[in-house]
Amino acid sequence: MNKKFVVSLMTSLVLAGPLLRLTVVDASQNSEDAVSQEDKSFEKEKAELEETISDAQATIDDLVIDISSQEEDIESVKTEIEQTQKEIAQLEEQMKLRNEKLMTKASSNKNEVKNSTNPFERMKDENNSASSDQYIKLAQLGDQKMLDKAEEQAKRQEEELKSAEAELKVNRDDIVSQRTELEDRIVKVAEKFDMSDDEKESFVNEQTIIAERTSSLNEELKNEQQRILEEEREKEEAERLAEEKRKKEKEAEEKAKAEAEKKAEKEKAAKEKAKVEVKAEVSTSSSEAAKEPKSSGWTRPASGNMTSPFGYRTHPVTGERDSFHAGIDIAGSGSVVASRAGTVTQASYSDTYGYTVIVDHGDGYSTLYAHLKKGLSVSNGQSVSQGQQVGIMGTTGRSTGVHLHFEVRKGGEAVNPMNYLN
Ligand SMILES: [Zn+2]
Repeated sequence: MNKKFVVSLMTSLVLAGPLLRLTVVDASQNSEDAVSQEDKSFEKEKAELEETISDAQATIDDLVIDISSQEEDIESVKTEIEQTQKEIAQLEEQMKLRNEKLMTKASSNKNEVKNSTNPFERMKDENNSASSDQYIKLAQLGDQKMLDKAEEQAKRQEEELKSAEAELKVNRDDIVSQRTELEDRIVKVAEKFDMSDDEKESFVNEQTIIAERTSSLNEELKNEQQRILEEEREKEEAERLAEEKRKKEKEAEEKAKAEAEKKAEKEKAAKEKAKVEVKAEVSTSSSEAAKEPKSSGWTRPASGNMTSPFGYRTHPVTGERDSFHAGIDIAGSGSVVASRAGTVTQASYSDTYGYTVIVDHGDGYSTLYAHLKKGLSVSNGQSVSQGQQVGIMGTTGRSTGVHLHFEVRKGGEAVNPMNYLN
């Protein structure tokens, strides 16, 4: 089941119970017994699930209420902090102005004192000035006390805000884990009752409609869900990217391996060819030549023209350069015969070779006849004599037209058939 859907539907699952049950019963109508058995255990499972859901829902509702009251608290603490800070600023401004006043007064008093000629006046001025200074200083002291208090309060409020925010986070995390737990449970139930993809989809669709009708989710919860979905999406995206990277690395590795194998194969074939050439040379010059099978006579397996020789060539189907051709191609028609007497070790079909016969000649040599028509003339384990028909030339397997692909193998290795055919 799509987890994303489940997350948004959990709150309405209790209401959706009967639908879930219907879907499951539909899915297993084959046997009455099975239905009633499944029914019972499903009923039980559903009842438990519903209980879990309503418990979880209640917890979530409580959490939502907690969260909104916590958010209100946080807002009011923030307002208080702002208020306190305003007070602090006012007090500071007041004290600054008063300080300035004290300073200017002090300097102007000095001037007045110096300029006054009347000693009595001078004394009065000084008295006035002294009492006014005293008053300012007192006010300043009072303000400083208030300022200290306000700063203390601001500090306390900041701490309160911090802990309220921490509590809020705990509650949010709690909602997330409650939801995850529920989601897992619902998925498990759906899986346990073996809903098909179609059933799951229609189940989810039905839930969506109910969810839309009955949704009492407040904005808070919706935002929370949105956040969960967002997190899930990000997680999925990260997983997808990681998977893509893994795949690319694996592809590169496989490509390197395939290239290494191809190279090894090429080297092996080249070696083989060199060996055959050396042997051909030897056979013309030495008495050993008489022992080569050529002298004992190999029958040409089919009539027609050789259209593709043994060795490297451009592959007619894949267009791949330097692909190694392990045999010769003879284009013609009709009967394909055993080149020498032997025992059929394979008479079967392969995607590449089509209908194929392999005859083991018993002296380390075997021959292969490929792309034959359906309906081979021989079967596995059968003895064949030289020139006996093994099949009819065809174009089965990976082939572009009617032809025989003929291989000669010596000790299991493909060798050039033209070294054996007269
Ligand atoms: Zn071929």
